[in-house]
Parts: sequence; structure tokens; C-alpha cells
Amino acid sequence: MDKQEILEKKIKEWGASLVGFSNLEEIVPENLSDIPYGISIVIKLSDRIVDEITDKPTHTYYHHYRAVNNLIDLITLRTVLLLEEWGYKALAVPASQSIADLGEYRGLFPHKTAATRAGLGWIGKNGLLVTEEYGPRVRLGTVLTNMPLRTGTPITQSRCGSCRICVDACPAMALYGTLWKEGIPREEIVDAKACSEYMKNFKHIGRGHVCGICMEVCPYGKRKKSVDR
Ligand code: SF4
Ligand code: SF4
Repeated sequence: MDKQEILEKKIKEWGASLVGFSNLEEIVPENLSDIPYGISIVIKLSDRIVDEITDKPTHTYYHHYRAVNNLIDLITLRTVLLLEEWGYKALAVPASQSIADLGEYRGLFPHKTAATRAGLGWIGKNGLLVTEEYGPRVRLGTVLTNMPLRTGTPITQSRCGSCRICVDACPAMALYGTLWKEGIPREEIVDAKACSEYMKNFKHIGRGHVCGICMEVCPYGKRKKSVDR
């Protein structure tokens, strides 16, 4: 077993549902150009909790969202420490982060870009990563490193087809129905401000960025469940 195989095995043992590897050389910003490989970590959300979302987010979903983010941060930290022990540079991109200097709603590096480049999924009309295995019922983490990695085949086109279920279900009318392909800016898919504004209705439930409806309704997530039963 080589180092990359050991790394993948450990990340799965630590709790990741899926792991993918990408080469981000052409797209990382200058300040991250010394760590151009991406390790994407996917954690599947609990079906029971997602299924409870009907017309609004639930208290349990908010708690779950935070718990899964904590697990992602723990796994990516352990990944970084292992890579450093092996003599490589590595940086964990926080699971959920907005850096004011980079503009509102932006993190250090987009998890979804790394994940599509790793071949883990595409960007749905809901603006979320949609995986074949779990649909959009996932949360993502990313580690950037200079460890040379064998990388997955990037996914560059949407597999949503003519489906518009999430677009029609969004109570904030925040989804434009855009069929994603690589390079399309997020602004052409989701009105992030409208989505965020809608969340202000649920301050009494908890602080969060998503109501979850456009994730719950996606047939890709439901399809996997029906196969499992
Ligand atoms: S999280 Fe809710 S408000 Fe935001 S885009 Fe999805 S369905 Fe619309
Ligand atoms: S509900 Fe349909 S359009 Fe929306 S992300 Fe899922 S497959 Fe794509």
C-alpha cells in the first residue's frame, strides 16, 4: 500500500463517506500555489434528519449541520497532521467559513470546486455538490497539499438534465434553474442573498446559511435511499 492509499484508508476510518483527489494547479490563488493538490472529504448527512425537512429547517438539522462540520474539521486536521508528519505541506480549508476580505459568502478555497475536480460530483441547480452516491445530502471538506497525488477524472457537466424539482421547491425563489458546467460562476445558479435573507425567518431555530429544502427534494439523494432499503 503506498502513501496515498494509506491516506485514503485512514480518512475513511476517521469517518469520511467519500474521498477524492484533484490537481488544482491552474486555479489555486497565488498564496496557495505551493499546495496545489486537493483532498476532498465528503460526509453523508443523516437521511432521517434530512427527511424531516419539509417546508422549513428543523432544530435537529441545524444541530446536525454543525456536528458534521465539526467532524469534517477534525478529519481534515488529522489529515494535515499526518501529511506534515510525512514531510509535506498541508492546509485544511475550514468546513464552513466566510472571509470578509474575500467577499461575502466566500471561503479560503471553494470545497465544491475541489470536489468536482476530484470527480466526486457536479453542481446541481440547487448550487450544491450532487454526488451519484448520496445526491446533495453531503457536507464537504478540503485539504490542500504539495503531496503529489493521483487524481480523479474531473466532472465538468451537470447531470441534472431537465429536472427542476429544487428550483420549483425553493421558497425564496433563489434558484435560477441554470444547468451547470465547469466555470459557471455561482451567481448564475443561486441568488445567495435571497437564500440568506430567507434564513432570517428562522433565527428562532438557529443560525445557519441554508434551509435545506433544495437538498431534501433532490431525487439523487432519495434514489440511493430507496436502493438501500
Ligand atoms: S437553502 Fe432554502 S432558500 Fe436557500 S436556495 Fe435552498 S431552498 Fe432556497
Ligand atoms: S433536484 Fe433535480 S435539478 Fe435540483 S439538484 Fe437535484 S437533480 Fe439537479
